[in-house]
Amino acid sequence: MPAVDPTLAPGADDDIVHLKPPAPPEAFAHRQLKQGEFWQHVPAYREVPTETFLDHIWQGRNSIQTPDKLLETIQDLAPPAFIEDLREGFLRAPMSVRISPYMIANIDWSNPVADPIRTQFLPLGSRLRPDHPGLKLDSLHEQADAPTPGLTHRYPDKALFLPLDICPVYCRFCTRSYAVGMNTEEVEKVQLSPSPSRWAKAFRYIASRPELEDIVISGGDTYQLSAKNLRLIGETLLDMPNVRRMRFATKGPAVLPMKILTDHDWFQALVDIVTKGRELGKDVMLHTHFNHPNEITWITEQAMLRLFKAGVFVRNQTVLQRGVNDDAATMGLLLKRLAYLNVHPYYVYMHDMVKGVEDLRTTIQTGLDLEKTLRGTTAGFNTPTFICDAPGGGGKRDIHSYEFYDRENGIAAYTAPSVKPGQVFLYYDPIEALSEDAQARWRDPATADALIADAIRQATT
Ligand SMILES: *Cc1c(COP(=O)(O)O)cnc(C)c1O
Ligand code: SF4
Repeated sequence: MPAVDPTLAPGADDDIVHLKPPAPPEAFAHRQLKQGEFWQHVPAYREVPTETFLDHIWQGRNSIQTPDKLLETIQDLAPPAFIEDLREGFLRAPMSVRISPYMIANIDWSNPVADPIRTQFLPLGSRLRPDHPGLKLDSLHEQADAPTPGLTHRYPDKALFLPLDICPVYCRFCTRSYAVGMNTEEVEKVQLSPSPSRWAKAFRYIASRPELEDIVISGGDTYQLSAKNLRLIGETLLDMPNVRRMRFATKGPAVLPMKILTDHDWFQALVDIVTKGRELGKDVMLHTHFNHPNEITWITEQAMLRLFKAGVFVRNQTVLQRGVNDDAATMGLLLKRLAYLNVHPYYVYMHDMVKGVEDLRTTIQTGLDLEKTLRGTTAGFNTPTFICDAPGGGGKRDIHSYEFYDRENGIAAYTAPSVKPGQVFLYYDPIEALSEDAQARWRDPATADALIADAIRQATT
């Protein structure tokens, strides 16, 4: 222990006038992380020691993709009615299901219906709502802006590269449900399998566009790339003189933090690319995706510390979801907890307009209110920008920058002068959040069309 300066001990100097009352206990909640072998309350993990639970291969092998496997794992932790509800949800969901033992262990099984982690990963039939009439499957038009499969070039100087279509888990709310995960009863997917020949085409495109300085490598998920392929992609891009900035996007730290502690080849490949980038004067970062403070435990803390010490800096992107993180206390705790682990909260996204997840979406007004409450609670660089990724390919817009917002009928209209000049992009609040009268208007297609036409007119005059 370093010696503590006695003049800094509490109460050592009574000349100080405290204008602020002492911070209440809840001001420190972000420092209280789940400790110990917290997974052992799950019947299938009762005998699992720390060493096994931290093994990323064990986590992958024991991830859950079917209701039967879930039942086998949790046994009597959840009532039979919950399992039935889940079977119905699995059948009707557009996304395949995959959840890691780490996430299973972080669900509060005394109330799984309300649990924020259950809500994100395990669909319940009883919670499904009809889609909004404005919903589409590839709502961001990633395919329409793709010069070659798996590469989206929408913005002037940056591009999104999707080397593969698999993830360590599958999130119900995934924007890329058009491609990510296996085909389901509801959706046949576009194939984006890891393929060096497809990648070579994407690399040739990036090299042929000198204005491209910033490449986002997403997926799927870069966690699922082998160390060899991670190096191949990283080094190929770093060797291009035009590429100055790269981000590897992965849900991994939120759902499988132990990989950073136990997959040494993958960790080293990432560190080597970041280090090589630094030597070349190029910025390589990790972007991750935490949505709720319960996703962060002592294992996350150790993983983030390992990355930080190795010089890998991490930013976070959160998806705003009803019943998960749409209140200021939860979102505020998430931001403080991330900051405590040196992860910078970068964006909070409005939930994309994807199929089968109306129960998760919330209103633009909720986003506006949350932002107002949270700004000022902590450092500006730990205060995320609230974003609406405009459906139809307008790209990311600050939610405050709408041209027009009809709160009564739940229509926000955005323009994107530097991305798609002259176009209007609409985001719809979920129907359930509207008044009875407004809900009735949406039920009548002619009235709905008139509402939409009016929003476009108001946004452009
Ligand atoms: C999100 C995204 C980017 C990166 O945007 P930033 O605002 O810089 O984070 C790049 N290309 C596409 C297609 C994207 O969706
Ligand atoms: S990890 Fe990302 S890409 Fe994969 S399912 Fe979740 S949101 Fe989609």
